[in-house]
Amino acid sequence: MKYSPNNPILLTSSLHVDEARKAIAQLVNELIAESNAIGDASDTEIVSLDQAINRILAEDLLSPIDVPAADNSAMDGYAFDGKCLGTQSATVSLKMIGTAFAGKPYEGKINPGECLKIMTGAVMPAGCDTVIPQEFTSDQTDTHIEFPQNQLKPGENRRLRGEDLQQGKPAIRAGRLLRPSDLGLAASLGIASLKVKRKLKVAILSSGDELRSLGQTLDAGSIYDSNRHSLTGLLNRLNLEIIDCGIVRDDPTSLKNAFIDAATKADVLISSGGVSVGEADFTKQIMQELGDVGFWKIAMRPGRPMAFGVFKPIAGKSPARKTLFFGLPGNPVAVMVTFYQFVRSALLQLNGANQTEPPIIQAISEAPIRKKPGRTEFQRAILGRNTDGRPTVRLTGSQGAGILRSMSEANCFVILAHDQGNIVAGDWVDVALFDGLL
Ligand code: AMP
Ligand code: MG
Repeated sequence: MKYSPNNPILLTSSLHVDEARKAIAQLVNELIAESNAIGDASDTEIVSLDQAINRILAEDLLSPIDVPAADNSAMDGYAFDGKCLGTQSATVSLKMIGTAFAGKPYEGKINPGECLKIMTGAVMPAGCDTVIPQEFTSDQTDTHIEFPQNQLKPGENRRLRGEDLQQGKPAIRAGRLLRPSDLGLAASLGIASLKVKRKLKVAILSSGDELRSLGQTLDAGSIYDSNRHSLTGLLNRLNLEIIDCGIVRDDPTSLKNAFIDAATKADVLISSGGVSVGEADFTKQIMQELGDVGFWKIAMRPGRPMAFGVFKPIAGKSPARKTLFFGLPGNPVAVMVTFYQFVRSALLQLNGANQTEPPIIQAISEAPIRKKPGRTEFQRAILGRNTDGRPTVRLTGSQGAGILRSMSEANCFVILAHDQGNIVAGDWVDVALFDGLL
């Protein structure tokens, strides 16, 4: 099935979250294919290693060297030829003839009956294939060591050349969202810069007559625009280029001009507000003029209404690309939930990431949770541990879609599946953490 945003199936009164995700992924795939067909050399760039955090690797990184570059010791101990080992408890006695340090290889050869004191990481000297850790020797002096013949097997405690990585083989695959360990790995191979996908340009705007920017005074009935700031925080974690298009009034001309302006500058536009039933009518008309945008009612809480689709390439936009559009609901918590649930993975996918979904873990619910089957719920919660050390969750405060404090105090979502009914205390539930060690 082709998932046009206005496919009647997607406009049903209760679109399953999974169906919405599938439709988004399919449309993003089409955009990628179209973009590849246009071809654009500026889709990648070379950046220095320390600028590459949270960027997406554009091509396989091939190791220019074997790692480790030579056989070396995995322990502090004594290196020797393992031929003297066996199955008996008979004592092996070896003469110690020198020391091998990390970074300072021992040049001589070790003969049977001899050993070398060796430090972790030091190159294995010629004639040695085994290391007995210091603490396993039964006797040691400055000139000789003893240990039982059956204490270890030949080849133990030695790291082989190329054991971690072989020269010419991929050390990191294209599509990796680069994490600190990837930068360390690249550095360990002597690589100082990486080819990454260019930063996506993501425009954000807030719509609503009641909204005021920070620094403005609040007149009666007005509120501060918080959505642009939570979206900026969410997007900054993905190391993207953010184009802030400010606040737009609930007026067709302003809205249309703002959308055109954003779509000229950006690959993706994320707006919030203006998609709920009362307001959707004129936004719908504008968006339909600009492209193919569907107005979905997703079976989820919070975040039921959402507009999604593409704007046609704006005249003069180069390259002539479409703009991916997300019209998120206005409620501050719904914005964050729909971002985590739909937008984040779409942005990663559009930029070529091979892993787009956050991990889900399970925890024990400390208290009952009311839940109606027929919609997916994202409750804000705190993940902790009970006295047995098992993971537990408890919901934070009032769960209204406009109550940002429930989100601010939480560290995770409890995700209650579409068909799930009420939860009783002690049930295991799915949990997605807001932050992770990456
Ligand atoms: P809407 O989807 O435009 O009907 O908005 C739903 C609710 O979210 C209303 O109470 C709005 O005042 C509020 N809201 C919309 N946009 C924002 C925003 N940018 N910051 C804070 N609250 C907002
Ligand atoms: Mg509004």
